[in-house]
Amino acid sequence: MNTHIYLYGPESETIDLREIREYLLEKFPFQIKIRDNIFSSSPEHTEFLAKELAKCRVRDICKKISDFEPLYGEIEFEKRVLTGKSRVLGVLYDGLDLSALIRKIIPTEELHVSNLHLVFTDRLIATLQDRYHARIVILGIPVVISITGMIEAPAKPKEYYIAKQKLAPFGIPPETIKDQFKGRFIDYEDERLTEIAKGYVMQGIVYHFTHEAFCENKDCRLYNAHWQEDMIHAQTSDPEFCERHKKIIEKIATGRYEGN
Ligand SMILES: [Zn+2]
Repeated sequence: MNTHIYLYGPESETIDLREIREYLLEKFPFQIKIRDNIFSSSPEHTEFLAKELAKCRVRDICKKISDFEPLYGEIEFEKRVLTGKSRVLGVLYDGLDLSALIRKIIPTEELHVSNLHLVFTDRLIATLQDRYHARIVILGIPVVISITGMIEAPAKPKEYYIAKQKLAPFGIPPETIKDQFKGRFIDYEDERLTEIAKGYVMQGIVYHFTHEAFCENKDCRLYNAHWQEDMIHAQTSDPEFCERHKKIIEKIATGRYEGN
């Protein structure tokens, strides 16, 4: 079966999709295609999409509220984002709702078992447990990967929060504190975002074939990091994968993967 991977770009140019494509081509003999942002690819549906996206917003951090009509201002905001006039920062979306919406947008004939749809977004996504928690990746069909999630979901070093708390009453801007912790967490427009993104793409691909989410090994790119420092370590250390996942990935690449 010939596997096709579709990589959909985020709303703004936060990562280098061509570099990610090259990385994947070194690992797999798959067809890999780069596509535009999934939401802005059909301008004739802006009205519909704006309303549907506004419906995906998290209304209450503690519970899911489904039965509501989005506000006029929220729909207008989504229209501005869809047409590139606004950025998406500051809004939290239900990751599963967003994933379900994307399934509606992908043409039915492309929702084939040998196709993988990996959708990047600048939108911050969350899933509900005891309350909503920000996520980097939603595994499923499609795989949704949030660039903002890489920055906002894993916690920064504890010392950073302590320093921020101590200095805030004196009006010292957060940027000054960020400088002191440079390298220990990923920030907006960070040059490491593309490198980090590769690991989450691999999580999506491995999940597609194995239905196993994440790895327990902190050195493996499939590790589900809750701290920025752990994420940076997992995504930039060598070797890339634990022994077990290295073998699984080789089997996937050579068409020999038949379960564990
Ligand atoms: Zn692993």
